[in-house]
Amino acid sequence: WRQRSEIESMAELSPQLEKELERLDKELWISSEKLKEIVRRFQEELDEGLAKDDQNIPMNVTWVHSLPTGKEKGTFLTIDLGGTNLRVCKVTLHGETTKDNNKRYEIDQEQYKFPNSIKSTHADELWTHVAEKLEDFIENKGLAKEYNDKKKMPLGFCFSYPAMQDRIDHAVLQRWTKGFDIDGVEGHDVADQLRAKIEERKLPLDLICVINDTVGAMVASAYNDPATIIGGIFGTGCNAAYMSSISSIKKLSPDDERLKDKNGNTRPRMAINCEYGAFDNARKVLPLTKYDVQIDEESPRPGQQMFEKLSAGLYLGEIFRLILVELTDRGLIFVDQEKNGNGKLREGYSIDTGFLSQIENDETKDFADTRAMFKDVLGLDVADEELDVFQRVAKLIAVRGARLCACGVAAICLEEGITKGHVAADGSVANKHPHFKKRWAKALDQILGFDSVGEDQDPIVITSADDGSGVGCAIIAAMEMEDRLQWQA
Ligand code: BGC
Ligand code: MG
Repeated sequence: WRQRSEIESMAELSPQLEKELERLDKELWISSEKLKEIVRRFQEELDEGLAKDDQNIPMNVTWVHSLPTGKEKGTFLTIDLGGTNLRVCKVTLHGETTKDNNKRYEIDQEQYKFPNSIKSTHADELWTHVAEKLEDFIENKGLAKEYNDKKKMPLGFCFSYPAMQDRIDHAVLQRWTKGFDIDGVEGHDVADQLRAKIEERKLPLDLICVINDTVGAMVASAYNDPATIIGGIFGTGCNAAYMSSISSIKKLSPDDERLKDKNGNTRPRMAINCEYGAFDNARKVLPLTKYDVQIDEESPRPGQQMFEKLSAGLYLGEIFRLILVELTDRGLIFVDQEKNGNGKLREGYSIDTGFLSQIENDETKDFADTRAMFKDVLGLDVADEELDVFQRVAKLIAVRGARLCACGVAAICLEEGITKGHVAADGSVANKHPHFKKRWAKALDQILGFDSVGEDQDPIVITSADDGSGVGCAIIAAMEMEDRLQWQA
């Protein structure tokens, strides 16, 4: 059975553990045939989302009509609300296409950890918190000297949740994802809610655009790398954006006034924020395990973001924890030990994706770091046999996640007829997991049939995205302001 996951064993396992691993390998391995089946359904769902509103995958229009030229200019404030942190940046774009990329923009930023309680608070508390941080930043960086009621600083808002936009500076939250569950925001315009707080505090800010992190990643990366075709986030959540031709977006009429430039011509393209974390909420093709089902049922939004729940960083550690709990309950691991632990093994989300990355990344002698981590996080000692089991299980979960992640991008490429280019990837899984990119590329090869080419020369390549929620957001604000000037001229 090891042919499937290609995992070597270190220790002699007891027959029961060997059997359990064989079962897990079967349940978590996704063959390339199955990947292709998933991609076919994925393409249908992408299509449905472009054809009509209120489909499973939203395919949200963004009103971002082009990738940057590199000449975008100005100073902007950006705010990034994405899941784990709140980040405020002051971004200065120099507008020069110099060869030295570092000099094309400057960024000054602060990161604020979200208090954990905020995930399940009320709208008012969320926006008060956000406005407070904006105010702090303005004060600490001395921006009040430069900007005031008459001369406001342009603000870009990167809001990394599914939102319906009927203009670039409005965004109605469709539903919270990534474990957020804040009352009074779903179905409301987050731009209006933030603006109200900005006004209340008389902050010298003018909200220009609301963007998704995927669109930001695509735009920021295209600023430096014109081969960029897709922006993908493989982090706490998962999602991607690409540039679509307007004619493919059947749910929009080409006569829609909002699509026209000042000469009355319909703009040819628009960025689509797929929101494909929602893929297969109807559970037609995804091979769900009982762990996936449990995670879904215990989440604040059961039945939503099914694809994300199998592949994104927020959930990978939790899948691992559920498997450990099961093996413990069967008396196969941590025998007679649990009462000495700190109880965290039974605590939801106590193991994060960093934990899994660390297991696969451990180069210390006798895996001392991994053992120390189990002790720190769970208060449990790891026997040799268990260490072997954990390494193999961590790998099975991460491989499944990476292979699934390739399906979303493959479906976009097949739908759009994209045959080459760079997929600019950001997020903790893409950046911090030691083998994600390699596994992702291998799965994409199998789906799209690049096998003959050889990994380094694949026509579609995963790259590391530039800062989308900061720099990308500022570039989009700059493009939007330039467009407004054109209309006024
Ligand atoms: C959100 C997307 C976001 C992705 C990555 C998902 O849960 O719905 O808007 O792009 O996470 O942050
Ligand atoms: Mg983010």
